[in-house]
Amino acid sequence: MRFREKAPAYAAPSGWNVLLPKRMARERVPSGRRFRSVVVGAGYTGLAAARRLAELAPGDEILLLDAATIGEGASGRNSGYLLINPGEPSASAAGFAGEWAVRQMALVQAGVDWLRELVATHAIDCSWQEAVPAITTAATPRGERSLAATRERYESWGIATEEYSASELRRIFGTGYYRYGIRSLTRALVQPAALHRGLADSLPAGVTLLENTPVHALSDEAPFTVETSRGEFVADRVFITNNLHARAFGLGRDRMVGIYTYGAFTPELDRDQLELLGEIAEWGALPAHRMGTTMRKIKTRLLIRSGDSYERELEPAAVRAMLTEHYRNRFPAMKAHELEHVWGGLTAVTHNGAFLFGEVKPRLFVSVGCGGAGVTRGTIQGKLLAELACGLRSQLLRDRLVQNGPDWLPPEPLRGAGAKLQICWEQWIAGAER
Ligand SMILES: Cc1cc2nc3c(=O)[nH]c(=O)nc-3n(C[C@H](O)[C@H](O)[C@H](O)COP(=O)(O)OP(=O)(O)OC[C@H]3O[C@@H](n4cnc5c(N)ncnc54)[C@H](O)[C@@H]3O)c2cc1C
Repeated sequence: MRFREKAPAYAAPSGWNVLLPKRMARERVPSGRRFRSVVVGAGYTGLAAARRLAELAPGDEILLLDAATIGEGASGRNSGYLLINPGEPSASAAGFAGEWAVRQMALVQAGVDWLRELVATHAIDCSWQEAVPAITTAATPRGERSLAATRERYESWGIATEEYSASELRRIFGTGYYRYGIRSLTRALVQPAALHRGLADSLPAGVTLLENTPVHALSDEAPFTVETSRGEFVADRVFITNNLHARAFGLGRDRMVGIYTYGAFTPELDRDQLELLGEIAEWGALPAHRMGTTMRKIKTRLLIRSGDSYERELEPAAVRAMLTEHYRNRFPAMKAHELEHVWGGLTAVTHNGAFLFGEVKPRLFVSVGCGGAGVTRGTIQGKLLAELACGLRSQLLRDRLVQNGPDWLPPEPLRGAGAKLQICWEQWIAGAER
C-alpha cells in the first residue's frame, strides 16, 4: 500500500521547542533491516508503545520511525495540559454514563501516573507541575450554565470540584474577563516539547528511534515490508501510531478529520507587565466551550491557544491577528506587544470522540484518533496497545477494548461542508469563550 497523503509540514516551528536548547535529531540508519516490531509515529502514543514493547520483551529489536523531529509534531505543539477527561467542560453534553465515565477516567489516570513515574525515573526536565491552578473558566452566561452542569455531573460521580467567583478569578488571572470557574481533573501542566524530548531520549536500549524518516508504503501482510525515505525495513509486527496520517494506510479514512488549532507566546514580559497578570507565578485557564481559548501564564510569558480550521493550516498573518485579538480582549491593560512565537498544530478528530484501537488485521496494531487530549490518552493507549500485542491482559485493557470505535463520516464534499458548518456554528455558540 503506497501513501498519497503527506505527513504534516507546518508553517512555523513549535514555540515550545524553540525555547529549548538545540537538539540533534536521531538519523543514524541501523545496519540491520529486520525488526521484531516497527512503530510508525513517535508522538506520545508511539513513544509509549515502543517503550512498553521493549519493557515486555527486552531481547526484541524495535524500530520507531517519525516523519518529523521530536518536539515538532503535535506532541510538541500542544498546550501541555495533562487532562483526565477530554470532555471536561462538556461532560454533561457528551452524555457520559456514570460508570463508563469513571472507567474512562481511570484509564487516563493510569496514563498520567505512568508519565509521572517516567519523568521522575529519568529526571526529565519538563516543568512538571501539579500545584499550579488549572481552572476551567466561563466568560458568558451560557458558559457558566454549562460549567455548573458539568460540576454537578462530576460531583454525582464522586469527583471533587472547586468553584471560583468572578472576583477570585480576577485575583488569580489579573483580568475581569471571566465570571465563573471550576477546578478539577487536570492533573498536571508540563512543557510539552520538553516532555516529548525527554521521553524520546530515555527510551530503553532495544528501541532504535529514526527521525525525519516518513513511511511511504506498507505491505499488506506480515512479515511487513515498511518502505521509508531511508529504504526498506521488515517487521513481524507493525504499530500504527501516526494519528491522523493513519488515513494514508487506509485506516480511519471515513472516520477521522484533521483540525488545526493554534498557539502563541507573548515575548518575555517585564515585572510591571507580569504584575498585571494576577498574584501567582503560574496559572492555567481552560475554556468552557471546546471552541474556546486556552491560556497559561508560564513564568515570564503568556501562552494563548485558540482557533480551529478544517484540514488546512490558516495563513500565519491571519493566525497572528486572531490570537492577538483573543489575547487583547482578555488583557486590555497589557502593552501592545507583538506575539513572539506563533504556530499551528494538527489533530485527528472523530465525530463521537472515539479512537481506532486494536489489532485491525493479524499483527497490525493501531491506536489513532487522539483528538485534543492525547498527552495522557495517547500515552496510555500506546502502552495498552503494546500489552495487547504481547498477550498481557488487564482490567484497563479490557475497559479499552470494549469501547466503541469512531462513527462513520460521509465522503467529501459533504464531510468538509458539514465540518466547516459545525465549526462556524460552534464558534458562534462559544461567543466570548473564544
Ligand atoms: C495547539 C495544540 C494544543 C493542544 N493542547 C493539548 C493539551 O493541552 N493537552 C493534550 O493532552 N493534548 C493537546 N493537544 C492534542 C495533542 O497534541 C495530541 O492529541 C497528541 O499529540 C496526540 O499524540 P499522538 O502520539 O497520538 O499523535 P501525534 O502527536 O500527532 O504524533 C504522530 C506522529 O506521527 C508522525 N507521522 C505522521 N505520518 C507519518 C509517516 N507516514 N511516517 C512516519 N511518521 C509519521 C508525525 O510526524 C507525528 O510525530 C493539542 C494539540 C494542538 C495542536
